[in-house]
Amino acid sequence: MSKIRIGIVGYGNLGRGVELALSLTDDMQLIGVFSRRDPATVQLADSSVPVHPYSAIDDFRDQIDVLILCGGSKDDLPEQGPALAAHFNTVDSFDTHARVPEYFAAMDAAARSGGNVAVISVGWDPGLFSLNRLYGEAILPKGETYTFWGKGLSQGHSDAVRRVPGVKAGVQYTLPSEPAIERVRSGSRPTLSTREKHRRECFVVLEEGADAAQVEQAIVTMPNYFADFDTTVTFLSEAELREQHSAMPHGGFVIRSGLTGADQSTNQVVEFALKLDSNPEFTASVLVAYARAASRLAGQGQQGAYSPLEIAPALISPKSPEQLRKELL
Ligand code: NDP
Repeated sequence: MSKIRIGIVGYGNLGRGVELALSLTDDMQLIGVFSRRDPATVQLADSSVPVHPYSAIDDFRDQIDVLILCGGSKDDLPEQGPALAAHFNTVDSFDTHARVPEYFAAMDAAARSGGNVAVISVGWDPGLFSLNRLYGEAILPKGETYTFWGKGLSQGHSDAVRRVPGVKAGVQYTLPSEPAIERVRSGSRPTLSTREKHRRECFVVLEEGADAAQVEQAIVTMPNYFADFDTTVTFLSEAELREQHSAMPHGGFVIRSGLTGADQSTNQVVEFALKLDSNPEFTASVLVAYARAASRLAGQGQQGAYSPLEIAPALISPKSPEQLRKELL
């Protein structure tokens, strides 16, 4: 059987993760990477894979079955997504939750204009967490859904820390509150405040001569980012930051706590958990699995945009439906 031919658009953390995840599959083949930077400056993990300028991507229409879009959600995907979906089948990890409806509409129109399939918002949140929220709500209509994130490095909050005057470098971790998770697991369905669900830990390198107490105060009182949370600030050296905080861990929990039975007194708790040593490598692995689904949907003659919520689970597996029924049911 011929392999699914894949192109990667954008080579950052996610692009690198996709390259590595593809190397673990037997049914997919990486044709090339497309970057807006000078290809000579983009170093792939496998130097035998060609890097092409993004501007030349149209020349590859006949050589690629699915493009995996690895640009950022804020500025790259809203522009590149619709432009590429008009000419290629695509998969992306668009994660600006509030803007999903408008992004879906733009991708749907573009994909239909070219007779292609565009799978959006693939990853873990949105993505696998969304699927688990759906299963929980559909199966246990009476109940509450809780999402906890972390321990994880938050890019947005790390940027906010680095913008504080006196901060030279820094990172921020979001941590779920263990007591809150235990209360939810017990089936008590508590109403939890923002402060009760998560706390924040910052690791900061000071500029020379900066006042530590002032920097800490500026961070913990920052509106929208830290003021509503219990936040700790730890100061350290640049070398310590590099050695101890360069990885990109993340994870979290989706818990549905519901009630069934004639008098709705039977507790049912469903939990899905992720503990990821590398957020981009895991997100990339999910993208690669859904590239398989995009290729199959396109092969069936489908058109338009999909999110993971509308894609049948068997479509992301390399195994046939017959094999899956035999092994997994
Ligand atoms: P990066 O910032 O590492 O990469 C984004 C883009 O920036 C790349 O595609 C690349 O494009 C460009 N770039 C990368 N490195 C450089 C560099 N050294 N100099 C200049 N440009 C560079 O972002 P990530 O890969 O970490 O994340 C991408 C997106 O993935 C995030 O915005 C987020 O939305 C999404 N995501 C989604 C998740 C989910 O669960 N749904 C989870 C995690 C992430 P080019 O090669 O064209 O220059």
